[in-house]
Amino acid sequence: MIKRLGIYEDKRKRTHTPEGYELLTHSSGPISYDFNWHLGYYWTYFLQGLKEKKFLATKCHQCGRVYMLPRQVCGRCFVEMNEWVEVGPEGVLEGFTIVRFPYVDPNHGGMKEVPFTSIWVKLDGADTRMMHYCNEHDETKLEVGMRMRAVWAEERKGSIHDVAYFEIVK
Ligand SMILES: [Zn+2]
Repeated sequence: MIKRLGIYEDKRKRTHTPEGYELLTHSSGPISYDFNWHLGYYWTYFLQGLKEKKFLATKCHQCGRVYMLPRQVCGRCFVEMNEWVEVGPEGVLEGFTIVRFPYVDPNHGGMKEVPFTSIWVKLDGADTRMMHYCNEHDETKLEVGMRMRAVWAEERKGSIHDVAYFEIVK
């Protein structure tokens, strides 16, 4: 049977092609991958800093701009940055989103617990903002421009999760 496809039809729900051929599906089952990922100099230095409760940013020697997260090359001057400066651990909330729809969390493969709050925070001393989580899930208590502080994980392994979350500075 040929089914006419509407323009707004969800293509993932198709069972047949417009010509009437059945679309085949194949289940591969769970996949397990063991691999190492080389982080490179900049990410290694940054993550080592988090282990010691330090936010290490790169500073451009030409324009003075401080990058958090650190970058190798200044986006304005296109020069390599080799100067490291410590920023934070407090900063200013520059934006937030409270997420209420669960999705697969790539950190463990299970569903991410909701609600959670994604934030953009500009750490003191930095000129760029970083993304992380906040422990406040009530949007009436969050306001762009308010002060935030990093809360460190008890056990730190050299991961972005060494910062457990950010909290409002009262
Ligand atoms: Zn620069």
